[in-house]
Amino acid sequence: METEKSGPGSTALSPKAGKQIVLKQVTREEWAAVPRTIPNFWVAAGTWIPMGINLFLIHDQLSALALVADGLWGLVSLSMIAFAIALIFGSGRQAPWLGLGITGIIYYFQPHHSTIQTFMVVALGYYGLLSILVAASDARFKSLLRSWRREATGSLTLASAERRCFGVTKYLSPVAWNLALGALAYPAVRLAWEYFSTETSSLSDLDAGFRFDLLAAMALLAVCCLLSILRWIGSRSVGIFALEIPVDAQIGPTPLRVLGQAILIEQETWICGCRDSEKNESKKPFVDPRFIFASDFCQVHGIEAVNKLSHSEFLQIAQQPWVYGRNLTGKILYGTRQRMNIVGLTGWGSRPVAVRSPWLYGGGEQASDYYAPLAAREPLNRSKRVLKVIDPADNTLAAESLQENTREEIDRISLRSVGIDAEAVRVQGARPFLA
Ligand SMILES: [Zn+2]
Repeated sequence: METEKSGPGSTALSPKAGKQIVLKQVTREEWAAVPRTIPNFWVAAGTWIPMGINLFLIHDQLSALALVADGLWGLVSLSMIAFAIALIFGSGRQAPWLGLGITGIIYYFQPHHSTIQTFMVVALGYYGLLSILVAASDARFKSLLRSWRREATGSLTLASAERRCFGVTKYLSPVAWNLALGALAYPAVRLAWEYFSTETSSLSDLDAGFRFDLLAAMALLAVCCLLSILRWIGSRSVGIFALEIPVDAQIGPTPLRVLGQAILIEQETWICGCRDSEKNESKKPFVDPRFIFASDFCQVHGIEAVNKLSHSEFLQIAQQPWVYGRNLTGKILYGTRQRMNIVGLTGWGSRPVAVRSPWLYGGGEQASDYYAPLAAREPLNRSKRVLKVIDPADNTLAAESLQENTREEIDRISLRSVGIDAEAVRVQGARPFLA
């Protein structure tokens, strides 16, 4: 197997441009055989449903609640809703630990030998058991990753921009961070407004509800920081290394996303009209600044241009996601032998990134820049997992199916010769379908 020293890309990067990391080539069989774990859905349901029932049953007796609000319903506010949503969706594999922590806090503040305390002991046992089960199943995957790292024989260069993807704040979804900061900002602004606009002279006169929200938001931010640090430490125990994996959304631990309706700016020529597409004035920042919206009216990438191509010309671009526009589906990967390099798969919940390198070890073709891995997550059923299609402004695209099509069919082109187990169906006035 080649190493980077003899690889064709080694001259392009100076040693200072990045850091050398080891690369392991994973076969399709190895990738498909990654042991399953308890799906995130069941971890979340197993933690938060009992927690909800638990809190609801004992809310009358929670002495701590009486100090801060009139009761359970007195706590419902924007910040508390953000708190709950961030915990439920952001806690991931650590949800049982949070369940254990919250139950422990409730236990600690109850009078001794009360009914609630006995109740909490049962809950503590339950969350303890769930935490051990999830941790044991996650440790299995980590040990597989460590053994892959030891077996690695290749290497590639990781640019410093890519290394920043593994900073300590990157182990929690941006949505959870935004919720935490939003939950903090709202009561802070309200309290500041109240302080300066009324004749309130001391902080203790301020609205108790907002003061409580502020505390809750600070607790949420602390939980987010704690989760992020714990996950960062967990990922360091495996280490940052590269894997060359098969591009298949239906096997392995990482789901995939593809950028649809997008065109790489580099591919543009001076006659291309994609840059003029009105969608490129999108207010939302693009997912990846290397892409812009592909225009349906472009002379090179538009609907008419694609429909005019001969079969052999079409086959040359058939693997490019932009060809299918909104009609892009996971079928573009059926039977494909494309592969990609990813860095940062360090366990369930980790967020690997795709890394470009000018060569592959595993045979097959390198998947285009349009594909990227998503956070490693066990679905309920891997074989039903679909390729996530988004546009450059991060809107999810749902494809119309060929059955719903009312347009006149032009022709059907088998894509087998380019390694895709599907047919492209070209229709009048719209992007081709994959069937
Ligand atoms: Zn164009």
